[in-house]
Amino acid sequence: MRFEDFHGVDELIGRLKRETGSGDPVHAYLFCGPVGSGKRSLARICARALNCDSDGEKPCDLCGSCRRYLAGTHPDHMELSDQKIIKVDQVRDVIQWLATRSFEGGRKTVLFGNADAMNVQAQNALLKTLEDPPRDVVIFLTAEKPTSLLPTVLSRVRMMRFSPLSQSGCARALEKLGIEGARAEQLAEVAQGSVGVALKLDRDEGFWRMREQVLEALEGIRGPGDVFRAAEGLKAYKGADVRRVLDMMEQIACAKMEGEETGRHSGYERIGLSGCGLLEAVMEARRMVERNVNWQYALETLLFSGLRAAGLRE
Ligand SMILES: [Zn+2]
Repeated sequence: MRFEDFHGVDELIGRLKRETGSGDPVHAYLFCGPVGSGKRSLARICARALNCDSDGEKPCDLCGSCRRYLAGTHPDHMELSDQKIIKVDQVRDVIQWLATRSFEGGRKTVLFGNADAMNVQAQNALLKTLEDPPRDVVIFLTAEKPTSLLPTVLSRVRMMRFSPLSQSGCARALEKLGIEGARAEQLAEVAQGSVGVALKLDRDEGFWRMREQVLEALEGIRGPGDVFRAAEGLKAYKGADVRRVLDMMEQIACAKMEGEETGRHSGYERIGLSGCGLLEAVMEARRMVERNVNWQYALETLLFSGLRAAGLRE
């Protein structure tokens, strides 16, 4: 992703671009916003821009430094993400690492990908660094809600809030970019309000082929006798594509559930399975796939479970 992939938050992006590109950043940024709004991606883009060697647009994603960032091997970048709890010892390790000289002579960057996972002691440990940061260090924090952090921490970082566009806002933004109405609505839904994702998916033929197969499978299933035929189109997928199929089903299940709860048209009325039953079945299939259960078997189990939940057993 690049700065340009963030739409609808022009002011915020413009400011970050200026600060990171000109080499005049503040010492700590906190990006707040819901899951999936691109907070971490943005922090990584900023980190790359700070150490990018290009004379033009930063990050260029082509120079040695950018490439090392992208490969996850940059010696002056550290990341603590996906942890349920961040403890004081982990923060101390980071602080110690920040106090050493930069390996490549540029800035040292660190990303706490879920700063809200820091317990109070951990936050207090970081506080000292935020009050008196080592030179040439830039700290990025991301969190869903700023309220999960201590006020003393909040007062020492530059907080930037993300609010991803609503689905309709996303569709309007896509229309402005020349995508016609119905397609814009559809893209906004599958991209869950992210214009950048929508634009990428618009050109992704594989995605649409897969989506057609997923819909065909889900719409074609009315009883147990349909399961094996319904699984036919999807069973050949492997690896990352299996996860994509499950992501797609999950999203359809959520949209359907929302429609069922609010009485609004979800566009998935032709699917006989209930949104909630489908969602549960997808989650179970995910667990099976993680345990390396054969995909075809997991898929068929998913469809059977969905039918059972919908009471379409006979
Ligand atoms: Zn670069």
